Amino acid sequence: MKCKQCSSCCKEVRFPVPETPISIEYFKARGIKFENSWVSIPHECKQLKDNKCMIHKTKPFVCLKFPFNMKGDVESILLPEGCAYR
Ligand code: SF4
Ligand code: SF4
Repeated sequence: MKCKQCSSCCKEVRFPVPETPISIEYFKARGIKFENSWVSIPHECKQLKDNKCMIHKTKPFVCLKFPFNMKGDVESILLPEGCAYR
């Protein structure tokens, strides 16, 4: 697999949330994507210009590693729609 450099991962914020009936209802009611205990909210990074990272050489480690986690796998991360690693 190879990154398509589509920059979709720079256009949303993802974080894990415990999957409970209340959290499912909360995010569903607000039209927020909630999948496998991960929430995804549309939000474009301010460092993204013309689909390119303006701080590429000094970008955060989490961006450098994406979509791989600290263990080097992609199993536990909610990937954006269309991501080559989905
Ligand atoms: S810092 Fe760069 S790589 Fe990280 S989310 Fe922003 S634009 Fe994307
Ligand atoms: S969403 Fe996936 S394919 Fe697109 S830039 Fe990010 S890691 Fe690469």
